[in-house]
Amino acid sequence: MNLEAFGWNEFFAENFEPFRREGYGVGRIFLQHNKIYMLYTEEGELPAEASGRLRYLATGSADLPAVGDWVVIRVRDTERKATIQEILPRKSKFSRKMVGSRDEEQIVAANIDTLFVVVGLDNDFNPRRIERYLIMARESGAHPVVILNKADVSDDLEEKRRVVERVALEVPVLVLSAKQGEGIEELSPYIGAGQTVSLVGSSGVGKSTIINRLLGVEKQKTQDVRTGDERGKHTTTHRELLQLPTGGLIIDTPGMRELQLLVRDQGLRDTFDDIEALAALCYFRDCGHESEPGCAVRAALENGELAAERFGNYRKMQEEMAQLAARQNRRVVEAEKERVKKLHQSLKKFNKRR
Ligand code: GDP
Ligand code: ZN
Repeated sequence: MNLEAFGWNEFFAENFEPFRREGYGVGRIFLQHNKIYMLYTEEGELPAEASGRLRYLATGSADLPAVGDWVVIRVRDTERKATIQEILPRKSKFSRKMVGSRDEEQIVAANIDTLFVVVGLDNDFNPRRIERYLIMARESGAHPVVILNKADVSDDLEEKRRVVERVALEVPVLVLSAKQGEGIEELSPYIGAGQTVSLVGSSGVGKSTIINRLLGVEKQKTQDVRTGDERGKHTTTHRELLQLPTGGLIIDTPGMRELQLLVRDQGLRDTFDDIEALAALCYFRDCGHESEPGCAVRAALENGELAAERFGNYRKMQEEMAQLAARQNRRVVEAEKERVKKLHQSLKKFNKRR
């Protein structure tokens, strides 16, 4: 397999050079489940695990490989398995704070060149949320591009475009109708050979529809397995880093989809920053503002500084957020189960083919 087809370029080649001289191989991760990774390599697709040394030296999960990473490998020929020795420097990375630990960063996807921030023109139109995504993209090292989708059902397209352009500044803003297939060609500058993209945006804005358009087929059903021989052809394998017919690559992981939730959470904080400021003064860090001692929020309610109605709205929003989080968590858990099942199936197939 030709590595350029998977996004290999001078940046990675330069960083790989010392390893190449030592006789190491290289691959890009297209799927991860716990400790097992699946890689695109010059020798075809290989399952891999991180070396003991890499795991030992990792100071947190950000030091472990993630989907999109280019990794230095040793291939154990007898087993057709690889050991990951190093992660090549990332051009960009998307991360989130891990649940339950304060500062630990978890990498959700790496080496994305362009992040499509998808916005639905039908409803769900929140410039503030778009702003959040743009900040997130910039922090990651990827270039954001805003996609205004569902142009076919918008009656105030120009107005909305202006609003977004004010937020987006120098970021390109594209208008399309994924369902109709209109405007899809506007994405072509970003999905050429070796370029990696990913999509974020609230659920229902049309991300899957866009991905299907880009793939030109129903996602993941007809991707060939290019093993270098004919046997693997037309085998269905689950993958989260896919090749597009245009030569580009797309990363679609549950983790990237989950990022939308974090953005919403941040949105809530902004709208109620007066209450958040009070809450910061509560004695307990996780104060529920019920009957805890030293609660600054209750104090403000009692002395009239904070209107009961406003606090009620805040509560309602919080509850909606919690329900949303629970729904999304369930969905993530379901998706994860499905992922594991498919991974095991593809590993089984992989083993059978040998
Ligand atoms: P996702 O949750 O972001 O992946 O959104 P989907 O791709 O599943 O789309 C959600 C709904 O919006 C589906 O019913 C799509 O058919 C519809 N949709 C997607 N793109 C368009 C579009 O350009 N115009 C219209 N009218 N509907 C669309
Ligand atoms: Zn409190």
